[in-house]
Amino acid sequence: MFNLILFGPPGSGKGTQSENIIESFGLQHLSTGNLLRTEMGNQTELGMEAKRYMDAGQLVPDAVVIGMVGNFMDAKPDAKGFLFDGFPRTTAQCIALDALLKEKNNEINLVLALEVSEEELVKRLLGRGLTSGRSDDTNENIIRARIKEYHDKTTAVATYYAQFNKVVGITGEGTVETIYADLKKEIDGLLASQVEMDAASNE
Ligand code: ADP
Repeated sequence: MFNLILFGPPGSGKGTQSENIIESFGLQHLSTGNLLRTEMGNQTELGMEAKRYMDAGQLVPDAVVIGMVGNFMDAKPDAKGFLFDGFPRTTAQCIALDALLKEKNNEINLVLALEVSEEELVKRLLGRGLTSGRSDDTNENIIRARIKEYHDKTTAVATYYAQFNKVVGITGEGTVETIYADLKKEIDGLLASQVEMDAASNE
C-alpha cells in the first residue's frame, strides 16, 4: 500500500490537487471535509453534530472524525492506498491514524505540505465562497477562525510526521499545473525508491 497525506491550511489547494493525484496514482481519496458535508447533507446525527463546529470554523471533535475515518477505511478493503485530505488535523488524529494503518501492516509513506501565505488563503476562500455553496467560505470571520484553528492545532501534524522525516514542503502558489508537477515529482521519487528497496530485499 502507498499512503499519502496532502497537508496544508484551508484554501491551500488540497481538494484540487487531490483530484489530480488520485487519478494518476489510483489512490482512494479520503477527505474528511467531504465526508462531513455528506453527513450534514443527509442530516445524520453525526452530520448535525459536526455542523455546529464547522459553521463556527472550529474543528469537529477527534472522536467523531476518527470513527468516521475508520469506517471509511474498513469499507475499502481492496484500496491500493489512501490519499488523506484534511485529515489528520490534530496530534490525536495522527496517533489514531497510525494505529488504524498498523492494524493492516501499513503506514503513512509521505506527507506533502502545501505552503501558501495567509492573505492569499483568505482571498481564495472568499472567492470560492461566491460559487461553492459552502457557508464557511462566505464569512471572513469564519475563514480567519479556520486559519487560527490550523495554526493552533493542525500545524502540530507536520511536526509529528517530521520526527519520522516524512514531510516535504511544496510551494502552493503558482498554477495548478506547476504545483501538481512538483507534487508528482515527490510521489514518483518515493515510489521509485520503494521499488528499488523491494528489489534489493528480494535478492
Ligand atoms: P478546508 O480545508 O477548506 O477548511 P475542509 O473541507 O477540509 O475544508 O474542512 C471543512 C471543515 O470541516 C473544517 O473547518 C472543520 O470544521 C471540519 N473538518 C474537516 N476535517 C476535519 C478533521 N480532520 N478534524 C476536525 N474537523 C474537520
